[in-house]
Amino acid sequence: MMDPADKLSLDVFKNDQESHININQEICRKCDLKPCLSICPAGLYSISEETGEVLIEYTGCLECGSCRVACTSGALEWHYPRSGFGVQYRYG
Ligand code: SF4
Repeated sequence: MMDPADKLSLDVFKNDQESHININQEICRKCDLKPCLSICPAGLYSISEETGEVLIEYTGCLECGSCRVACTSGALEWHYPRSGFGVQYRYG
């Protein structure tokens, strides 16, 4: 049986130039908990060492929507990638 991580590594990403997830930094700055940093299964959120702001590496997004639900402060503007872009799952 194939390991789940191996299955994920077979997914294909077709990346758009524009991010489908945008962070309102003004709102985000006021959030102490920052659940996005721990909830993303792909670990795409991080804190900038330079500015201290939350960053998103949208190109590896699995489109699970977890961050959208977890960000109760409303700092995320989230939509699916445009048609033809985003993740293509190989094993469901
Ligand atoms: Fe991570 Fe899922 Fe949010 Fe994409 S939708 S950034 S994979 S938590």
